[in-house]
Amino acid sequence: MVVVGTGGAGLCAAIAAADHGARVHLVEKLSEIGGMLHIANGEFSGAGSRRQAAHGIEDSPEKHLAEVRRISHDRVHPELARLSVMAQGETVDWLDDLGFDFHPDCPGLIHGHEVYDVPRTYWGVEHGRSVIKALEPLLIEHIAAGRITLHLETAMTSLLTDDDVVVGVSVEHAGTRVELLGDAVVLATGGYDANLALRNEFLPEHCADVLVGCLDHATGDGLIAARELGADVSADGIFLPVMGMIPDPERPQHAVDYRVAFVEMAPAYRTPHEIWVNREGDRFVAEDTTSPEQRERALIRQPGNLMHVVFDDGVLAAAQVSLIRNPADEWTPERFAEACADSPWITRADTLEELATSLQVPAASLRASVDQYNAVGAGEQPDPFGRTTFPTRLGEGEWYAITTTAASILSRDGLRVDTGLRVLDVAGSPIDGLYAVGEILGNNVFAGDNYVGGMSITPAMTLGRHLGRTLASSLEDQ
Ligand SMILES: Cc1cc2nc3c(=O)[nH]c(=O)nc-3n(C[C@H](O)[C@H](O)[C@H](O)COP(=O)(O)OP(=O)(O)OC[C@H]3O[C@@H](n4cnc5c(N)ncnc54)[C@H](O)[C@@H]3O)c2cc1C
Repeated sequence: MVVVGTGGAGLCAAIAAADHGARVHLVEKLSEIGGMLHIANGEFSGAGSRRQAAHGIEDSPEKHLAEVRRISHDRVHPELARLSVMAQGETVDWLDDLGFDFHPDCPGLIHGHEVYDVPRTYWGVEHGRSVIKALEPLLIEHIAAGRITLHLETAMTSLLTDDDVVVGVSVEHAGTRVELLGDAVVLATGGYDANLALRNEFLPEHCADVLVGCLDHATGDGLIAARELGADVSADGIFLPVMGMIPDPERPQHAVDYRVAFVEMAPAYRTPHEIWVNREGDRFVAEDTTSPEQRERALIRQPGNLMHVVFDDGVLAAAQVSLIRNPADEWTPERFAEACADSPWITRADTLEELATSLQVPAASLRASVDQYNAVGAGEQPDPFGRTTFPTRLGEGEWYAITTTAASILSRDGLRVDTGLRVLDVAGSPIDGLYAVGEILGNNVFAGDNYVGGMSITPAMTLGRHLGRTLASSLEDQ
């Protein structure tokens, strides 16, 4: 068997297949395994786990599935979402058995996406890297036993067929082309968001400028190779951005690495003391909304999908918290105050009018937005957006703005597959020998038109394991 990609999906597929007796060529174009797990928060979800029971949390896969359907506006792929969710608690227990380094706060409720009704999200002390650390020993064991051959720095360039059956992959390693053959080929090459031309085929036209917020390997290679063989690709027209990513001044249309910095938007983690304005200098949403979806949808309606987080010295003194964060929690209020003085990500000015000029927003509108916020905070008028928290009046000392743009971090569309994860052609028939799992399927399958906690990494791992196991058993039977 050939598995292409060593993110959560490919690693789990290869390990499960090897556990069940298959011999696997595991192909990875980079020099290390792990894929998007290197940058991801690594939050995964599953119901009915031992950890939930130990915390006295009553839950079941059926309840989880109902929540997935509610949050996704019932737009998930019903069978595939069910297949994954029903086994996700088992994935959590499996990681537990492997000695996964759980963060002490989990299972927990996560506020970066719409919140589940019970704690069923888990993450490691090193976020996505904790998953790699848990899986790596299994991989090493299978490599030592000769069940898995790992090909690093080896890029799949195309799929090989014989009589319309996929029989292997053509790869390139150190400038040399090699063919790797197998009874089945599993594409686990992840998404396409780092390939702007491909990504923008799927995004609404007015979102073509959103930032790339994922790692560079996500170039859609598997999708492109399968499409060349006639594979069907979804085009659901769904897009929801991630907010708070900071444009990288050194890399146009890319976000500053999420591991380094992003603006924390969720009021559960930081009370907003600032206002958010669009390119016109107008507020556009309640900055303290507890619904991530509400603010994400509001942002993509703004010109350029861009917003400025506007605050002043009074906020710096009162908030006592950094507006910028990273997963390792390295942003102290002191570090943030220093960044306000000299970071290229933060615009500063002595007056609001000067700030407006630097941001290229109409000064009168920006002034009106600040006045509106202050008037609402003083109880003189209701807030048109329904904001309810007004910790400080704006207008003290210097002014600052952090500009952030909507970002895409994972692919919403992908290869269409059947419930056996067989890749389908445009006529709806399986392409013999070709399978796919993970983000290459598109996140809409598991999250519909929203983000649903853990519903990218967990289906990647859960269905990866399922596929590896199933393929190994069926190949053995032949
Ligand atoms: C900042 C950020 C935070 C996130 N946080 C979460 C979270 O908390 N929870 C969650 O559920 N999801 C999260 N996600 C999404 C999640 O990380 C991914 O959807 C998931 O990890 C994808 O797994 P995968 O195995 O399908 O693909 P990937 O992890 O992308 O792995 C694909 C692998 O295939 C390799 N590859 C690609 N092309 C080729 C080729 N031609 N030849 C050989 N190898 C190739 C790549 O190098 C890579 O190693 C986050 C994403 C980002 C960017």
